[in-house]
Amino acid sequence: MLNSMSKIFETELEFCEVCGSVLPLPGETMFIECKRCQNKINVKEFHGIENHSSHIFKSYDASTNDKEEELSGPTVERKCSNCGYEEMIFKAQQTRSADEGQTIFYTCKECRHQEIEYS
Ligand SMILES: [Zn+2]
Ligand SMILES: [Zn+2]
Repeated sequence: MLNSMSKIFETELEFCEVCGSVLPLPGETMFIECKRCQNKINVKEFHGIENHSSHIFKSYDASTNDKEEELSGPTVERKCSNCGYEEMIFKAQQTRSADEGQTIFYTCKECRHQEIEYS
C-alpha cells in the first residue's frame, strides 16, 4: 500500500505546476528547474526529501571513517605483494557461514595496497 501511494505522489511531482510540462528528475541539487518556463521547485518542499539529503551526508561520513580505520589496528608480518614492505595491518571479519571461517583484510602500511585472505 505504501508503494502505490508514493508512486502516485511522485507522478504528481514530475509535472511543473506552472506550465504542466514534465520536470527532470531531482538530482543532488536543492531545486528542480522546469526546462520550459524556468520555474524552480524547491526539492525540500516535496516528499520528505530532507531525509534524502541527510542520508547522503551520513554515507559520506561513513566512508571517510572506514578509510581511517583501515590504517590503524593490529599489524602483522606479511610482505606486501605490491611494494614489498613487510608489515601490514590486518582486520578479520567473520563470515556468515561457520564452515568458511573468517575473511582477513590486509592493508599495506606503506602503499595502502589491500589483500584479502579467506581462512
Ligand atoms: Zn514549467
Ligand atoms: Zn605495499
